[in-house]
Amino acid sequence: MVTGHSLHSPQRPSGQGRGGGLTVVDPATGEAFDEAPDRRPDELDALVNRAQAAWRGWRADPGARGTALLAAADAVEAAAADLAPLLTREQGKPLTESYAEVARTAARLRYFAELDAGPQPITDGRPVRSELRWRPLGPVAAIVPWNFPLQLASAKFAPALAAGNTMLLKPSPFTPLATRLLGSVLSGVLPEGVLTIVTGREPLGARLASHPGIRHVSFTGSTATGRAVAASAAASLARVTLELGGNDAAILLDDVDVEASADRLFWAAFRNCGQVCMAVKRVYAPARLHARVVEALADRAKTAVVGPGLDPHSRLGPVSNAPQLARVEYYTARALADGARAAAGGHRLDRPGYFFSPTILADVPADSPVVTQEQFGPVLPVLSYGTLDEAVEAANGTGFGLGGSVWGTDLDLAATVADRLECGTAWINHHAELSLAQPFAGVGESGVGVAGGPWGLYGNLSPFVVHRPEAASRGGVT
Ligand code: NAD
Repeated sequence: MVTGHSLHSPQRPSGQGRGGGLTVVDPATGEAFDEAPDRRPDELDALVNRAQAAWRGWRADPGARGTALLAAADAVEAAAADLAPLLTREQGKPLTESYAEVARTAARLRYFAELDAGPQPITDGRPVRSELRWRPLGPVAAIVPWNFPLQLASAKFAPALAAGNTMLLKPSPFTPLATRLLGSVLSGVLPEGVLTIVTGREPLGARLASHPGIRHVSFTGSTATGRAVAASAAASLARVTLELGGNDAAILLDDVDVEASADRLFWAAFRNCGQVCMAVKRVYAPARLHARVVEALADRAKTAVVGPGLDPHSRLGPVSNAPQLARVEYYTARALADGARAAAGGHRLDRPGYFFSPTILADVPADSPVVTQEQFGPVLPVLSYGTLDEAVEAANGTGFGLGGSVWGTDLDLAATVADRLECGTAWINHHAELSLAQPFAGVGESGVGVAGGPWGLYGNLSPFVVHRPEAASRGGVT
């Protein structure tokens, strides 16, 4: 069903606003409501120079950095009542999820403020005192998507700043506002030039990634854009960390308790309208349970309250932007044309804004793009399998490798199956729950490099090793 709001409206957020900036659209209405600056790529030189100048002071005093980052966490929490509604307005997610995103941003600042990358001795039996020290890289860049604008920004600036780098951060042109507000909140506690939010349309991101003054490009987004970012960064040989797309599978075992698992499984697929890199995007159920699993998930899809994120009753907001809605519609229509059956949903909702009915698809051919590609929306194909080997092979068969999960009562069997998943994180009877202290990495087309935990800090540092002879053998070692 199509509403009166055209997908190709002149109010698209990546378009030019009346004031010459980026137009920002509320996905709950399809109407433009604000603008953000549309920076020209040639403005980057001055901003990188400012980050370079700020780096000298910022790198010098780890104690002062830690204190500033703890103050930043407090400032973010104190601004939650301003940040969260703005985030919901531009991104669409329910307000409680926006508050959770703000809280996660503050928690991440605290976590990295307290991590220590102090000197480490290296011992190999030789009479040499070798010491590994970690040095910051310099001005670095972050490029962020629209699904978790604040949380993903903090996953980049918290470790980068804690490591002693300064940063230019570019949010998605669809969701620049809450990030700009966050930048202004943090400007009250961080020295000038330490964190700069820069908004604009392409080729701004490409020019940022290739800028000769940038020493690390940390990117989160689609696999296709990640390839372009890696190519851009090759110009200056900047380090790259790429957190890319996913197509996570959930394998249900023969002894799974369908009713007890259905709520968790449903929300692991539909939270943030399915726009989570680590959402469950495919369910594999044993053939004898397939109909029950489809029915249990379809029941939840039909009763989930869909509405504007600012309405406290809404559990699911709109799809976040018009191109993403078009993508969800395409994948769903293509699956239905391929012979799939919509056990729930299958269409856009007949109301203003970018709302799509939560959709459970059965009888989907395994080679339909909704199964093989990342559709990134409120749509879940449920496939049936014969043997566990077939299920594992299908789960590992898309080229993506972000996360995966196994659901069942026999936890030892579930753990054995989880061990066979080719991805960065696997869960048993859960999905997409992450710890700040864990490494976060994808394999295959899901990413390059490691974020999260101490590994995220070291990803923002360069090793520097000093060898000196032990006093007793001074001068005698080559
Ligand atoms: P996207 O790749 O279209 O855009 C991401 C960012 O890159 C935006 O800021 C965009 O403006 C910028 N960009 C676009 N072209 C560029 C270029 N040539 N050079 C430099 N920057 C450029 O992704 P999206 O649609 O905003 O976000 C959705 C995607 O993000 C999904 O694929 C999702 O899986 C992925 N994602 C991954 C993770 C993860 O941690 N692995 C987390 C969240 C989202």
